[in-house]
Amino acid sequence: MEQDLEESNNLYDVIIIGAGASGLTSTLYASRAGLRTLLLERGVAGGQLLNTDIVENYTGTGTIKGVDLADKMREDALRFGADNKFGNVTSITVNDETNLKTVHTSHESFTTKTVIIGTGTTNKKLGIDGEQEFLGRGVSYCAVCDGAFFKNKNLVVIGGGDSAVEEGLYLTQFADKVTLIHRRDELRAQRILQDRFLAHPKTDVVWDSNVVTVNGDTGVRNVTVYNNKEDKTSELETDGAFIYVGLIPNTEIFKDLHILNEEGFIPTDHLMQTKVSGIYATGDVRDTPLRQISTAVADGAIAGNEVYKYIQENF
Ligand code: NAP
Repeated sequence: MEQDLEESNNLYDVIIIGAGASGLTSTLYASRAGLRTLLLERGVAGGQLLNTDIVENYTGTGTIKGVDLADKMREDALRFGADNKFGNVTSITVNDETNLKTVHTSHESFTTKTVIIGTGTTNKKLGIDGEQEFLGRGVSYCAVCDGAFFKNKNLVVIGGGDSAVEEGLYLTQFADKVTLIHRRDELRAQRILQDRFLAHPKTDVVWDSNVVTVNGDTGVRNVTVYNNKEDKTSELETDGAFIYVGLIPNTEIFKDLHILNEEGFIPTDHLMQTKVSGIYATGDVRDTPLRQISTAVADGAIAGNEVYKYIQENF
């Protein structure tokens, strides 16, 4: 039976789900090792890199635009012959007898010996009134995509992590003023980003405050802000609200595999293997202390290498 399966053109050695930094690196390692490799992506290759203006903490590339790094990574990843298909993955099923996995997309299914999940994360929503209503009319989760629409305008950025501060800084090149609204009196972002933001002449911070509604008519006009130290509500005029309050892992489709933790991230061992033999997870979707391009690339390399060994030992 093994031979039948080997001879079948439909059997992959590894299917990589998601073409972000980790998935692209796994693709490079697996295909370069001679594995029959399929990279599935539901959108454009690059993942969070596409939402990043400038990358300056990925060794060897100096200062580079996120979109340019994504292009280079994609080109590199596919040069050893991996198949690359559009595919919106809906589930993975495991055949306990053959140890083969089937990756189901919305329109076709593929069988494989191993799977690497690199599906990344989506920006968390605040869930406040006006957030959905003004989406695309002043509310945004992507400064790189929408920042240029706000030339000489006033903007608010909500959140206190690396994304809020970094993207807030990016917005200063268009907006007259960028006000960061953070729920505590201390930012979570890296010190270097904080220092740059606080020193910038176009920025301001509203501390200890939550945005409770986004208000407007044809577009955003103001946000209602609750100061939790002073127990006071006020309105802040703005032309747009950029929301960066954290990440939600794109793992809903893997629920049935019982590989998620309480927050929906995927714990793995040090070889990137999940609780299910032959299924690996890499990058931002993994339960990891650091979510960076460097760590995603490292995860991807380990998993791409491990699947080779796994196949030697198990098939
Ligand atoms: P994050 O680090 O989880 O930060 C989320 C921020 O939003 C926190 O300041 C949090 O406040 C705030 N927040 C969460 N829920 C909120 C709510 N309901 N209302 C108001 N504020 C809320 O998320 P992130 O900034 O998107 O970063 C995600 C990961 O990517 C991190 O590991 C980060 O280091 C990494 N990253 C790195 C870079 C870089 O290296 N250049 C750039 C971007 C992202 P509290 O602080 O009070 O919890």
